[in-house]
Parts: sequence; structure tokens; C-alpha cells
Amino acid sequence: MTAAAASPADLTLYYPFEGMQFGPQKCFLCGTPTVPRQDSVPVFADWLMDRYQLRERSIKLLDMRIVAYPELRIACCGQCRTRHVEPLEAHLEQVSRQGVQGFRELDEQTLFLWLGKMFYGVLVTELLNELDPLAVPRYPLAENAQMLRRFQAFFQPLQALRVPMSYDDFVPGSVFLLETDPAQDDMPFEYDDDLSTITFSIKLDSTVLVACLVDNGIIGQAMRRVYKQAKRPLHPVQAAEFKARVYYAAYLLNVVPDYYPRPTHPGDTEVVLDTLIDDTIGDIFNPWDNSAYAQSLLEMWKRWQIPLAEILADPEAPLSLLYDADGQPRHLARYPEEIRK
Ligand SMILES: [Zn+2]
Repeated sequence: MTAAAASPADLTLYYPFEGMQFGPQKCFLCGTPTVPRQDSVPVFADWLMDRYQLRERSIKLLDMRIVAYPELRIACCGQCRTRHVEPLEAHLEQVSRQGVQGFRELDEQTLFLWLGKMFYGVLVTELLNELDPLAVPRYPLAENAQMLRRFQAFFQPLQALRVPMSYDDFVPGSVFLLETDPAQDDMPFEYDDDLSTITFSIKLDSTVLVACLVDNGIIGQAMRRVYKQAKRPLHPVQAAEFKARVYYAAYLLNVVPDYYPRPTHPGDTEVVLDTLIDDTIGDIFNPWDNSAYAQSLLEMWKRWQIPLAEILADPEAPLSLLYDADGQPRHLARYPEEIRK
């Protein structure tokens, strides 16, 4: 037994929301004071940046400011870095080498935490950026009360990164694992997100991970048929359609889970988290609207330049490339299927 294992686990949870303490002076997991820049971890781990040449690439923030991937960092104390974040990243580096199969075998909580850490890093970067008087975001996140509620909820199960924790009979988010057909795929890495709904997607070679991290698996339930039928090598334009469906569902989601850590007692080895969704105040999803969903498709299909007129050729049934006209899963060998004249 190691010394670390012999000492009782620290089950103290951390709440950085009072005064919004997300800056570089405090560890994001435990609140220990940190030395800015020095005590930090990259949002996109070094192995990701090396493998996908992200050090030369940049990401566009909501105020249109461009930030290089290596600039994205989260304040993290030495202990949380060496005990929690680095081991998780090392594990995921191994898993990712086995491609989609590796991710399929990974346990749900580990996948949630790994995705959650990245998402947290991007979201906090945006929030801190908004505090800069020069930043003029088009859609200020900090003024988005619904987003802040979601963010606070999301942070509770995310604490399992540091505190041993089990979720009592629920999954905190919906995570979809898609596979692209390598013959039709020339994008080794992609990242996109919708911060206000805590939804994002990351693509590593032929593995596409799409996640809404604060829905208690509701979107996963709602999309289980589509997901089951999408578990095959997809053309990237089909994976993009799947993403549009998840992003739009997250936009329609009308509930935010509440989480309740059970009180702990001496000798406990983990925190048990309970959850509750108050669905008495309204519907779980707002009503589906085809023209709004078409906008989501338009955005996700930008690379293929599919015009809105084509997407909405039938206003009652927006264009689908996952399904044929009879509602059957469609095999798409290439896109466009014929050379356009
Ligand atoms: Zn820490």
C-alpha cells in the first residue's frame, strides 16, 4: 500500500463560483493559491498538441480574438497536476492510440472527466477574456444566466477529477462516439463548441466525440435510435449532421440538473453524488423547429457549402444525409455523390 493510498482521501468539494474565482491565482480543482502561468496545465494536453500540430494553430474566441492553442491554460496546483490531470492525460494518450475501439472500452466517468477538463478550460478562457475591458463579445457569456447555471451544475460531477466520487444511478452528460470512414476523411483534428449549452465536439483521426456535458444523459436517451444507426463508418458530412442534431437538441434542452453531494463521514472513501431534474415547471425540450435546426445544419455543413435552400428544399423535412427518403440509414460513399454541374 502506498503512502497516498493509506492516508484518508480528501473528500472536500470546492466551489469557485462565489466571486467567480476562475483566474490564474487559484487551482481550478482545489482552490490552492497558484503562481500564474507557472502552476498550470494546458487545456489541450501536450500530447494532443504534438500529435495534431496544434502548437501552430489557433482558436477564435467569441470576441473574435485569436488565441494560439498553447496559450490556453488552466490554473492548477502541482499536486492536482501530478496526481490527477497528468495521469488522466497519460491514460487518454494510450487509449487514443487504439482509435475508436480504445474510446469504446473506456469507462464513462473517465471519458466525461477528460472531455470536461478541456471544455472547462475553453469556457473559463472565454469568461476571463470577457473581464478584459477591451473584449467585446457578440454574445457575452457572463450575462447568460442559463449558461452560468449549467456551468455551476457541470462543475459538480467534474470534481471527480480530484475527489473520489461516484454518481448514483446517473451519467452527468451525453457522450457520443462516432467513427468516420478514413477513405473519405482528410481532417485529423477538429474542435468546435457551443459554450452556452455546455456542448462540444472533438475529432481525433477517425474518432469523433460529441458531448453535452450537463444533461444527465437526456439527449443520449432522446437520440438513442439515431445513435445506434450511426454506429458505422460515416462520411464526415454525416458525422457533421449527427453533430448538428446534438447541438440543436442541447439548444432545445430546457432543464438543468441539480446535484447533491451526500454528507460524508469519517472513513468514507468517496463522495456519492445524487441528482434531481425538476421537470415540473415545463417540458424537458422546447419544441423542435425545422428552420432553426436547418441553421444548425448549415453551420455544421459549412465545409461542404450546402446552401440553406437545399437544406430546406422541403421545409417539413430538412435535408438528411444520414437517412434516405424512406427513413433508412444511408450509406454515403462520397459527397457530393455526383460531380455538380
Ligand atoms: Zn489543486
